[in-house]
Amino acid sequence: MINVLFAPSQDRLDIYAAPLQAAFAQADLNVDLRAAFPPEEVDYIIYAPNSELQDFTPYVRTKAVLNLWAGVESIVGNQTLTQPIARMVDHGLSRGMVEWVTGHVLRHHLGMDRHILGQDGEWRAYIPPLAQDRRVTILGLGELGLACGRALNDLGFPVTGWSRTAKHDDQITCLSGPDGLTQALSQADILVLLLPKTSATENIIDAKALAMMPQGAFIINPGRGPLIDDTALLAALDTGQIAHATLDVFRIEPLPKDHPYWAHPNVTVTPHIASETRPETAAQVIAENIRRAEAGDDLLYMVDRQAGY
Ligand code: NDP
Repeated sequence: MINVLFAPSQDRLDIYAAPLQAAFAQADLNVDLRAAFPPEEVDYIIYAPNSELQDFTPYVRTKAVLNLWAGVESIVGNQTLTQPIARMVDHGLSRGMVEWVTGHVLRHHLGMDRHILGQDGEWRAYIPPLAQDRRVTILGLGELGLACGRALNDLGFPVTGWSRTAKHDDQITCLSGPDGLTQALSQADILVLLLPKTSATENIIDAKALAMMPQGAFIINPGRGPLIDDTALLAALDTGQIAHATLDVFRIEPLPKDHPYWAHPNVTVTPHIASETRPETAAQVIAENIRRAEAGDDLLYMVDRQAGY
């Protein structure tokens, strides 16, 4: 029997129990899945940022921690955790992000607000450029950045992506390193942030970065709040350097009611809903990783503690 501790909240377990049991059975794994065990009896921990579990010291038998989220900033620096961590790469999560990012890119590209918000009896014909004439830059070319970049390129947008390590992709112009960032920002008519939060990415969009972007550019941030220097972004919105920012993630969540983002006419706030791990597909990823660990194989989607993601 393999003991799997489900550390996120009970209401999450209610949602995940059936898909997990089905995936374990399909993978031929004999699992006891529970919200509580004596720590020394736990083989694997399914984790999420809302888990109360912070001290992993007593989990002496645990072989791996399997994160339900793509982002791991809440656990990667935990000094009590010595076991491997796997992050979530899930088909449903990726498709949800592609749909959210594509929708918000098209909103700004087509100037939809002019018509949705401007029903005032005036006949204003605004013809947007074609997608081929609107350059999109994506910072972060991982699972989500690549999927979004390819979908946007399928629609005709020229897409440039930027990552830590050099890459090649048939559809996306791939850049890396500091010079690559300058180039990527300078052609970002629409900028999409899909970087993880690490010490190297915090405040990457500061006043200097914002000034490198084309005047009147759009920013879409489903990555993490601390990627952006909020004061610098508000200043760039006020001067028109940035035409609009669509923000899904924030330094403090929920975003405080008195935060200037709520009232700014050129900011759209969404409540960290860009995409969500989908239980049916994520359960299969969890089961596959437990099957691998039990067989002595490497886990999928291992977190690099040094890099922080
Ligand atoms: P990945 O780990 O697959 O990709 C991360 C990308 O960022 C990689 O391309 C990586 O480069 C790049 N990167 C990391 N650090 C740096 C750096 N210092 N300089 C340049 N590039 C860097 O993550 P995912 O694509 O799965 O997820 C990305 C983020 O999206 C998550 O960390 C999370 O914060 C956010 N997210 C938000 C959700 C929401 O609902 N708002 C839902 C899910 C995720 P390289 O390829 O070289 O390693």
